[in-house]
Amino acid sequence: MTPTPRIVVLSAPSGGGKTTIAKALRARYPDEFGFSVSATTRKPRATEQDGVDYRFWKPSQFLAGVNDGQFLEHARYGGELYGTLRSDVQKILDSGRHVLLDIDVNGASQVRKLDPEALTIFILPSDPRVLVQRLVERGSESSEQIQRRLERAIEEISDARLFHRWIRNDDLDDAVESVKRAADEYPARFARDPKDIPWLKSYLVDLQSERQRPLR
Ligand code: ADP
Ligand code: 5GP
Repeated sequence: MTPTPRIVVLSAPSGGGKTTIAKALRARYPDEFGFSVSATTRKPRATEQDGVDYRFWKPSQFLAGVNDGQFLEHARYGGELYGTLRSDVQKILDSGRHVLLDIDVNGASQVRKLDPEALTIFILPSDPRVLVQRLVERGSESSEQIQRRLERAIEEISDARLFHRWIRNDDLDDAVESVKRAADEYPARFARDPKDIPWLKSYLVDLQSERQRPLR
C-alpha cells in the first residue's frame, strides 16, 4: 500500500523502454504499483498475452467502449486505437497502489487535463543510436513500421517539455528507481535538469540523421 496512490504516466518514443520499466516496477514493488492493461485494436506480438499485455479488441468493440464512456483516454497510434479503461485504473487505485499507464503523448495530455495529481514521466535512452538499436533488436516491427515509429518519435520528443520528469533509460535499475522515487513524491512537480534541455534539442537533430541511415 502507498499512502497516496496516484496515476503515473510513462511515455516514451517506441523503443524508449516504458514497457520494460513498468514490468520491472511491478515485479520489484508489487504492493505499490499496478499496471493498467490498455485495450487496443493492434495485433498481438508473439510474446504478448491477451488480458496481460493488452486487451486485444476488435475495432467495433473499441468504438462501442468509446461510446459507452469506458475510456479514461484514448488515442490513435500507427493507424491503431489504444485506450485506458477507467475501471482498471480505479481498481488499482482502490487497492492502494499507484497505477502505471504506458501511453503515448496524446494520452498523457488527456490525463494531465483530467487529473492534476497525475505524475507524467518521459523516458529515453541517452543516445538516439541506442533508441534505434533497441527498436531494431526488439524485432517486433517491420522496417517500414520502425521508420514510421522513428518519425513519430521526433514529434513525441518535441512534447517532452510537457512532462514533469525526463528519465534516462541507460541502466535499467537506475531508471526503475528514479520512477519509484518520483512516484512517491508529492505533489507532482516539474523537476528537470536544465542541462537536459540542450540534450533533448540535439537528440532531435541526431535522430533525424539516424533516420536517414539504413536500419541495421
Ligand atoms: P517501449 O515500451 O518504450 O516501446 P520496450 O520496453 O519494449 O520499449 O524496450 C525496447 C527494447 O529495449 C526491448 O527489447 C527491451 O528489452 C530493451 N530495453 C529496455 N530498457 C533497456 C535498458 N535499460 N537496457 C537495455 N535494453 C533495454
Ligand atoms: P505498442 O504498439 O508499441 O505497444 O504501443 C504503441 C504506442 O501506444 C506506445 O506509445 C504506447 O505507450 C501507446 N499506448 C499503449 N496503450 C495506450 C493507451 O491505452 N492509450 C494511449 N493513448 N496510448 C497507448
